[in-house]
Amino acid sequence: MTTLASEQQLEMLSKHMKANNVCNSCNREINTLPNNTRFYCPVCNKFEIVRCGHCRQIVAKYTCASCGFIGPN
Ligand SMILES: [Zn+2]
Ligand SMILES: [Zn+2]
Repeated sequence: MTTLASEQQLEMLSKHMKANNVCNSCNREINTLPNNTRFYCPVCNKFEIVRCGHCRQIVAKYTCASCGFIGPN
């Protein structure tokens, strides 16, 4: 039990809470961006992937925070 551990937990929590509105690839808020999309991880089906139109266009990689899957599709 260290202070560092709880800080890391807080950081993970805040990342998780922001995940639904932030592009998984570039971390920009998608609310103001066009052509964004959201879908569940094709592997574990547990984590919602959010992507902005730009990252879709350039086929930027995304990472599933649940199972670690990395993919463009
Ligand atoms: Zn993006
Ligand atoms: Zn997954």
